Amino acid sequence: MNKIILLKVGEIALKGLNRATFEAQLMANIRRRLRKFGTFEIRSAQSTLYIRLTEGDEDAIDRAFEACKDIFGIVTLSLAAECEKNYESIRATALDFLGERLSEVETFKVDAKRSDKRFPMNSPEIMATLGGDILEKYHHLRVNVHEPELLVTVEVRDFAAYVHGERVRGAGGMPVGSAGKAMMLLSGGIDSPVAGYMMAKRGLELAAVHFESPPYTSEQAREKVLMLAGKLERFCGRLRVYVVPFTEAQLAIRDKCPEELFTIIMRRMMMKCACLIAEAQECKALITGESLGQVASQTLGAICVTDLASDRPVFRPLIGMDKVEIIRIARKIETFETSILPYEDCCTVFTPKHPRLRPHLDEVLAAEEALGADQYIAEAVQNVREYGAII
Ligand code: ATP
Ligand code: MG
Repeated sequence: MNKIILLKVGEIALKGLNRATFEAQLMANIRRRLRKFGTFEIRSAQSTLYIRLTEGDEDAIDRAFEACKDIFGIVTLSLAAECEKNYESIRATALDFLGERLSEVETFKVDAKRSDKRFPMNSPEIMATLGGDILEKYHHLRVNVHEPELLVTVEVRDFAAYVHGERVRGAGGMPVGSAGKAMMLLSGGIDSPVAGYMMAKRGLELAAVHFESPPYTSEQAREKVLMLAGKLERFCGRLRVYVVPFTEAQLAIRDKCPEELFTIIMRRMMMKCACLIAEAQECKALITGESLGQVASQTLGAICVTDLASDRPVFRPLIGMDKVEIIRIARKIETFETSILPYEDCCTVFTPKHPRLRPHLDEVLAAEEALGADQYIAEAVQNVREYGAII
């Protein structure tokens, strides 16, 4: 049997002149993501992408189908069987390809679309005839036109006919890379991986920066972050992690700054480091996992002062979300279990007892000046190391 993956592209179909570039990006992403399963031919026609295996193991197309479910820019997908454009071939293919599903369910319905008007039967005729043939073979089945357990779909198109069962909902969003590139601040926590996932869904290619403070943070803490990056690669493709040694900066803050300003100054220094690395990696925005009011550094006052440290837009896709909602997504994208591993983050080193909830910019700037913050930032960024994600 000749299996083929049919993909419906979503929002990108609406983008007028950009459409061609968006579709090219999606096809490149698919090609890259499927490479490990075999060689595939991808063709685009009538806002559908057709993926066919040209070389690989027998189950390669099934594995490719699973992988396509995570690729942004795809609205629905179905695994179909391709056959010749004559009714006998369609009938045989439907009974063979969907035989197992048909014997499992109790109700079904046939839907047919005929875009090739030269085909001698019209859509209602295909539906009625195939429905009848299925009932003849599977006596336990009933037709339910409103809520069928299995929707048998026949599409008669230009080059061939296709038979498939349910359409599966795809990951939606826009193809990664179609919206440019951004630098995410990736901690080992629950929130930042979710934030990265959400922005990748809007078409951003990602890179990540992580701050560590050895020996106050451990090797395992860094590995955990690289593992989180590995989990995200399933959705966002290759993700490089830039690890910044932050111990010197943090010790200096501890020794020279007013305690209630520790957190805000640390966060501003993180932002400035992230901007420098973002610039070098051609990332036009930053992404953080902040959620309004979640902790002292995420009050509106603190965010205002933190924001001023960045020379580019800071995307905070979780800003209006509750922890419960964030955790739901973290579970869905399978980062949650890794995020809750109990390793320390540099943010939890030297945390003040009473962080200022409404820091004054003047006071913060004065403290940074006294500290010589720029020198620490420059040094930290100079010593950044690049890592690949751990899969
Ligand atoms: P998360 O669950 O993402 O760690 P959080 O609720 O612990 O977030 P904070 O510690 O205030 O909140 O961090 C806010 C954001 O700052 C994080 O979502 C992340 O984007 C960034 N951040 C915090 N610590 C680090 C770090 N060590 N390296 C890189 N980015 C960090
Ligand atoms: Mg954290």
